[in-house]
Amino acid sequence: MARYKDAVCRLCRREGTKLFLKGAKCFMEKCPVEKRNFAPGQHGKDRKAKIVGYGLQLREKQKAKRMYFAQEGQFRNYFEKAARAKGVTGEVLLQQLERRLDSVVYRLGFAVARRQARQLVRHGHIAVNGRKVNIPSFQVNVGEEISVREASKKLVILEAAKEFALHQTAPTWLEIDRDNFKGKVLALPRREEINLPVNEQLIVELYSK
Ligand code: SF4
Repeated sequence: MARYKDAVCRLCRREGTKLFLKGAKCFMEKCPVEKRNFAPGQHGKDRKAKIVGYGLQLREKQKAKRMYFAQEGQFRNYFEKAARAKGVTGEVLLQQLERRLDSVVYRLGFAVARRQARQLVRHGHIAVNGRKVNIPSFQVNVGEEISVREASKKLVILEAAKEFALHQTAPTWLEIDRDNFKGKVLALPRREEINLPVNEQLIVELYSK
């Protein structure tokens, strides 16, 4: 499946909820979900039917997939691994999404949005345990240290992200050293520590059919 290249705000309008894909703009009045909360496209305003059953399950999956910029096949793999693992499938699924390197970089406050974090990883600015890793979907483990590489610490976007992060709630499962742009995974996040407007049980039901 090709990567989505259109305006990301359309994704939020399609889901009818904020997916927080753009950083500061998401918290402002100019957020398109605040101004035009109807589906994009010519007939967007006309689509008012209540979504139930399969449609609802599908929308929850799309929401999660889009928030983490995961591909369909990749997302299904996360589910299959979660279904085989010990624990509550929905929670394990979300843990895998949170443990993606791009998501951890975002949660650490090195980027204002996951998309920006993804770019930081892709462009080789991030290290795990001191070694460069440029794979956004890389799964970070408990005890691993994530840092911005020395040569990248002067990036302007890092200072902006640091300022933005001061107004956000820091995740309790991560140890964060904002001044040195590094952090550590202390534990796997529990469901209540994952701030995500998604009903993961509906995703489990969708894939369990
Ligand atoms: Fe979504 Fe943020 Fe765009 Fe609002 S500003 S529509 S929350 S990406």
